Amino acid sequence: MIKEAAKPMSYTSKDRIFYSQNNDVNGTTLICFGGIHGNEPAGVYGLQKVISDIVVNDIKFKGNFYALLGNMNALKTGVRYKDYDLNRLWTTYEIESLRDDNQYEFEEQKEQYELYTTIKDICNSNHGDFVFIDLHTTSSPTVPFITISDSLNNRNLADKFNLPIVLGIEEYLEGPLLSYINEFGHVSLGFEAGQHDDEKSVLYCEAFIWLIMEKLGLVSKDQFTYKSSSRLMNIERGFYEIIYRHSLSYTNQFKMKPGFKNFKPILKHQLLANEGVREVKSPSNGLIFMPLYQKQGEDGFFVVRKLSKFWLVLSLVLRNLKFHQLLRLLPGIHKHPENDYCLIANRRITLFLTTKIFHLFGYRKKVIIDDKIHFIKRDRKVIPFT
Ligand SMILES: [Zn+2]
Repeated sequence: MIKEAAKPMSYTSKDRIFYSQNNDVNGTTLICFGGIHGNEPAGVYGLQKVISDIVVNDIKFKGNFYALLGNMNALKTGVRYKDYDLNRLWTTYEIESLRDDNQYEFEEQKEQYELYTTIKDICNSNHGDFVFIDLHTTSSPTVPFITISDSLNNRNLADKFNLPIVLGIEEYLEGPLLSYINEFGHVSLGFEAGQHDDEKSVLYCEAFIWLIMEKLGLVSKDQFTYKSSSRLMNIERGFYEIIYRHSLSYTNQFKMKPGFKNFKPILKHQLLANEGVREVKSPSNGLIFMPLYQKQGEDGFFVVRKLSKFWLVLSLVLRNLKFHQLLRLLPGIHKHPENDYCLIANRRITLFLTTKIFHLFGYRKKVIIDDKIHFIKRDRKVIPFT
């Protein structure tokens, strides 16, 4: 049990940036979010531990560092969110409806408005590379792992860690914060440190932040407890891909069977959960991922599988050679007239040219508009944050 969890969190909106060091506007800027989900305080405590070390040892970064609080109102009471999940609101529609008149329809609009304007201010006042880290925990026991949108720059940084790396979660979720940030070409990693109330989750967050800082060159190895951090984070390297999401409606009565641990093998037709009187069975062989053992949440569980080295190398080579441009020459596929990163396929062609091929070329997010499938590329040039 996290000891700090006993203390109530009493932040005001002035604490949105609860620590920053701005030393070089042209240097690398690291932005860490803690507590986007209010029942996941380990990220905030991990950041607080790092910050107290920075202050005590008077550490000065080669670059910039910002620690930001997520859902402050939900953190105070320890719930995932009050009205809406703050990590599902980062769609163009929601961003465009943000306003600064204090007449919010629901609690998370205020949180989102403050976060959005803070990120925008940071991005507009610095001119080097940006790296975003979002710290989370899960309701089931798990080894720490990284989640990323499958762009080569995200892969490059994530691959520096001896941790499982899960690609493509954004294909199944609507509006996570890091997917929005990825649209601007910035590197962004999600870090899931362990179970919500496990003391070790705080240690993992702390170690991950230090290691990220070292890998980005903000601090040198001798400036922090490098050995203990890298020993702690020496889990198991490997890339995974999500192949199934069991989505939940607000009204259903989902109950996961006990004992499922992240990344453990499951078999096709294995009983995983109950929804009222209905049994929920695994649609395929694979590994269980993020089984839900709490009331709030829209995802019952996911199924993942390990990606082969061959697939990873092939996709890297194809993308570096810009072979994805050949996809648009195929019949039934054309480029979006306004979006360079989007290919539109008619539904029939996707019977032959499966989603897997689009994944190989770095196209992940699928959106169906007017009976056509839009595949959106994750690799993109950096553009100003708007
Ligand atoms: Zn979370």
